[in-house]
Formats: sequence, structure tokens, C-alpha cells
Amino acid sequence: MSHNDSKMIILLGDGMGGRDVPSLGGKTCIEAANTPALDTLARLGSSGLMYLARPGQPIGSDTAHMALIGYDPFTQYRGRGPFEAKGVGLDMKPGDVAFRCNFSTVDAKGLIIDRRAGRIESGTDELAARIMEVCKDGIDGVQIFFKASVEHRAALVLRGEGLDYRVTDVDPHEIGVAPAKCAPRDDCPPEARKAAEKTAEVVNKFVAIAHEALDTHKVNQERRKAKLPPANVVLPRGAGEAVDLAPFSKIHDGLVGAMVVEVDLVRGLGLYAQMDVIDVNGATGGADTNEIAIARAVADHIGSYDLILCNIKAPDLGGHDSNALAKIAAIEKVDRAVAFLLDTLNWGNTTIMLGGDHCTPVTVGDHTGDAVPVVFYGHGVRSDLVEHYSEKEAGMGGIGQIAGADVIPLLRNFAGRIVKFGA
Ligand code: ZN
Ligand code: ZN
Repeated sequence: MSHNDSKMIILLGDGMGGRDVPSLGGKTCIEAANTPALDTLARLGSSGLMYLARPGQPIGSDTAHMALIGYDPFTQYRGRGPFEAKGVGLDMKPGDVAFRCNFSTVDAKGLIIDRRAGRIESGTDELAARIMEVCKDGIDGVQIFFKASVEHRAALVLRGEGLDYRVTDVDPHEIGVAPAKCAPRDDCPPEARKAAEKTAEVVNKFVAIAHEALDTHKVNQERRKAKLPPANVVLPRGAGEAVDLAPFSKIHDGLVGAMVVEVDLVRGLGLYAQMDVIDVNGATGGADTNEIAIARAVADHIGSYDLILCNIKAPDLGGHDSNALAKIAAIEKVDRAVAFLLDTLNWGNTTIMLGGDHCTPVTVGDHTGDAVPVVFYGHGVRSDLVEHYSEKEAGMGGIGQIAGADVIPLLRNFAGRIVKFGA
């Protein structure tokens, strides 16, 4: 491949696709939004509908992004914990069981009074160091690794023989109750039951040991003095097994990839796949995110990579909140990011796929298995008859119906970066 082969961009509005909304006169949020840049892509490029994994199968952002960057979620996904732990910076070996955790507050009776320990901002590194100290000899022969992340977030990794990730959350996801006891999950198969029981026992002991170490720690003594909730308990959840993912560049013939993403989970997947993860000042992951700063980061860094995947989280939030106006505003943010890229990049050697990682219809308030509208534009992409970016028009486009796993091969085809099969 020559060095002047085209650059490839995947730009996603998280959960951007949806369904007809009665309060919008039957339009979808995309149709109701003002999207001149997305419509330019549709008019000059080629549209289609994408089922990320399987038609009708609702999926998470983690499994959707796995499919998009070339991994099979149905055989390679073992829970979100490993991606979270990787995102926090913990090292993992295949077979390790990983959890995301919250530092939380329990009262003298052991009832949770704040799941986020007042969104604690400092001292968690010291608390984590103390936990590592008291766990340095392991629990029941299992090695313990624990690391704090931003605010109340942290991650836990268990390493040892005979563990299984199919265990329940300690975090009860509500206040006024005690932390839940970790136990084998209902879907844990009989042959894994024993390992799941052992794993649950180690987790329950870890929670008790950590509570004892944290409750009287000087960080928490000072927090109590300052009338702040002490971070005196750790609540693991989202167990997963560390899988062995081949590096992104290996499964894509040496392509060098990067991510510009706001979601920790997807960021962890990128790190797991050994992609570079680019941080952006002003990318908040919320409705107030700076979409121009995000687009500028893509433009600034594309020279150093073959492919950049970028995800703007805001549309998914509007979808989960069943807030059509918030979702429309978020889609218009994605449109402004695309407008910036249209103005900034050299489209003689750049190809983009614009779409979503799943639908989050405001009429449902959660992810659905509906097809996501996508559009390819730029170098190598022929036009079709579609004029606007929308769920309905995309179905009439030249790309047809594709799976998430088809995106990178299609981009590589347009970019002239895929080897001919046959003579
Ligand atoms: Zn998503
Ligand atoms: Zn979501």
C-alpha cells in the first residue's frame, strides 16, 4: 500500500437512530433535526442501513463497537468489566475476572447512604493503595488488583485458578439498603457454578476487607470532619472475563487506528484492541460537550493514523431520557462536527462513514435492535439517489443493508486499501 492511500474516519452519534415520534408528527428525531452537513453527506455520498450485530438484537455500546472494529461480540464478549478495568489502566491477563467499582458510603448500620461517596474528588488513590496493601497476599489464593479512576470510580481485577465471571453485582443500584452479596448468576451454566461460587466468595471477602481498611482511614477521618460522606465501601459490578483480543492492526493488515471517544467503556475497548486513545479538552460525554473540539481532534490527528473512530455520546442520553428535544439538539451537535470536517479535511484522500452504534429511540428510552442509518462519503464513494440523512431515506441508498463488521472493509475498499481476492 502506498503512503498516499486514503484516510478513513468512522464518526458515530451514539444511539443516534430512532423510531417515528408521534409528538414530532411521525418524524424521527433525525428527520426533525436541522442537519445540513449530514444531508450533504447523504446527497453526495452513498447511504444504507446497518444492523451492528444481528437484525433485531439490541446491543450495548461495547458490543456494537466491538463489531464495528472487527471483533465478533457473540464469541469474544465476556462482560464489560475488562474494558472498564483497561480504561482505568489496570493490566489484565486472559482469564482474569474484572469489575468496575464505585467508592460508596455506608452508615454505621452498613446501609448505603451515597453510591458515589459524594462524588469524591481526591484521596481515592490513597484509599486504593491501602486496599492493595491489605490485599497484598491475595484472598483464598486469588491475587487482587485494585485501582482508582476519576471521582468515585475504580476497577478490581481477580487473578487465579478456577474463577468465573458469571456473578452478580455487589452494587444494589439503590440507597437505604446493604451492599448485595455477590453470588453466581442465574445464567451461569452448571459446569461453571463451582468457579462462580468461588469467585463470589472472594468478592464478598474483598468487600468486607476493603470496608474495614477504608472506614478508619485518615482520608475518611478528614472527610467526616469536613462533613463529607466517607468513601468507606467499594461496590463491584459488571463482572467480566478478560479475553484475548488480537490487536486492531493485526486483524486489519497493519492499519494503525485511533479512537476519539467520550465513553470510558469504549475507550477501554480501544485500549484493549491496542488502538491509541486521543483525549480531547471539552469532550464531556454530556449534552454540553464541545463537538467542534472533538472534530478538530479528528482533523488534527488523522495525519498520524490510517483510521480514526470517533463517538459523540450526547444523542444516546436524549434517547435514554425519552427527551426528543434533547436528542434533536444532540444530533445537531453531530451535524456541526461533520460540518467542521467537511470544511477542514482534504476529501480527495479521505473517506468517512457517518452513523450510530445502535438506535436509542426516545419512544423506548433504551437501545433497540432497529437498523441504524449510515452514509459513506469522500474519496472513492459513488453517489446514490438519497438526498437526506434519515432512517427512511437510508433504506433506499446505494450501500444497502450491512453489518457492523462490514464497515471497515467498505471503507478500505473506497480508500483503495484492501487487497484483491483472486487473480
Ligand atoms: Zn452506544
Ligand atoms: Zn445507551
